[in-house]
Amino acid sequence: MARSADIVIIGAGIIGLCTAVQIARRAKASITVLDKGAGPGEGSTGASSAVCRYKYTRPEMVRLARDGINAYQHWAAFTGLDAPLARFHRHGVLWSSDGNRDWPAAEAERLRSFGIAADVLDDDALAERFPAISPCVLAPDFETGAPHKCSGGGLHLLEVDGGYFDPVDALHDLITTARALGVDIRFRTRVTGCDVSAGAMRGVTLASGERLACANLVNAAGPWCNDVFDYAGLACPWPLSPTRIQIVHIDRPEAVAGDLPVCVDPLAGIYFRTQNRGQQILVSSVRKEDECERVTAPDDLANYANDDFTREKLHALQHRLPGLASMCNVRGCSGLYTVNESDVHPIVGETPIKGFYVANGFSGHGFKLAPAIASLLAQMITGVKADFDTSEDGGFLSFSRAPIDIASKSVLA
Ligand SMILES: Cc1cc2nc3c(=O)[nH]c(=O)nc-3n(C[C@H](O)[C@H](O)[C@H](O)COP(=O)(O)OP(=O)(O)OC[C@H]3O[C@@H](n4cnc5c(N)ncnc54)[C@H](O)[C@@H]3O)c2cc1C
Repeated sequence: MARSADIVIIGAGIIGLCTAVQIARRAKASITVLDKGAGPGEGSTGASSAVCRYKYTRPEMVRLARDGINAYQHWAAFTGLDAPLARFHRHGVLWSSDGNRDWPAAEAERLRSFGIAADVLDDDALAERFPAISPCVLAPDFETGAPHKCSGGGLHLLEVDGGYFDPVDALHDLITTARALGVDIRFRTRVTGCDVSAGAMRGVTLASGERLACANLVNAAGPWCNDVFDYAGLACPWPLSPTRIQIVHIDRPEAVAGDLPVCVDPLAGIYFRTQNRGQQILVSSVRKEDECERVTAPDDLANYANDDFTREKLHALQHRLPGLASMCNVRGCSGLYTVNESDVHPIVGETPIKGFYVANGFSGHGFKLAPAIASLLAQMITGVKADFDTSEDGGFLSFSRAPIDIASKSVLA
């Protein structure tokens, strides 16, 4: 291994690899990405639902989501690969009605003001576009599980160009692109220390005992980011908590026919989407209560879904997809993401240690944002602009910012 690099990135997840590519295409720097995993996808990214939606409360986040998703929608151009593995699945993101008829039109108009296509669907339009989805505006009864007579009459918001991406294929594509640009990417390489002196980053120490000198270090270590702050001796003022997130996968029966969007069902507290060429459905939670299980040892994650979680989410899913009369091959699993308990927004950019950059605490939003976040970091580190740069400036998410004022501190922030 080279004994020095201009820039070291800890973590070959979606943030670290997008950042490597974004820097490499604009600067002749030596870049090394280090990952302790045996291969791509062992962190948050490998477990990600990779939903690409635009509707965020803060305009800065809408722009970052828009610009990040744009890279996924033009993935061949972004990666420079003729035949990338990952695909953007543009089924739309549907926010099913919560019974309030006021907000969908206002939100559609707000999204359009950012150049994002959005429609409002009434129940007839919903049935035509997504016949499997119930328009019901009543919440399922989770206490007793008793069915109710469903009732429509609401309005539903459709983010027309939303969808989801293939997260692990995206990592493989980025590795191919980065290596072609000369980036050195090492798996099975754990960073165990940082050298900081006179307030500046000097290098990292590896588990092998080897030292790699660098003047710039990016903490893209996902749920392990607090270890890197410890190695650097920097007291991070942000409460970044690795958090266990459960997901349930089922086979999709033929009765659930037609196109299925990514659906966010705020009434039932779930989201779901297809996967595996539409043959399966995954469902998970948008409730704050399901983002509370802090994990102190991210290497030892309990990789299953709890029975009560599975039961409740399947009950909610069946209410929104009445064709799911019976379910087979139910499989639960868990992943980790890092919740910034202060304001559920990430911290991105420089720290008080010269040359030490961070991109942490994505709180369930990091996949869609990654290309835009990488653009911010690459601009900060190199001072050079490039294609696919975000129009947003990074100050909004800076390490030294005040907490962002936000009403809903959940994944739907
Ligand atoms: C279940 C689930 C669903 C999600 N759904 C969505 C969604 O729908 N939309 C969305 O936008 N986001 C979603 N997210 C969030 C998103 O996936 C994450 O924000 C994103 O993947 C974070 O990427 P990352 O590169 O920061 O972290 P990671 O992918 O975790 O990568 C960090 C890497 O750092 C490596 N590492 C850590 N410590 C060290 C060390 N000391 N030395 C060397 N290597 C180290 C790890 O091995 C890991 O590979 C979801 C996440 C989960 C878990």
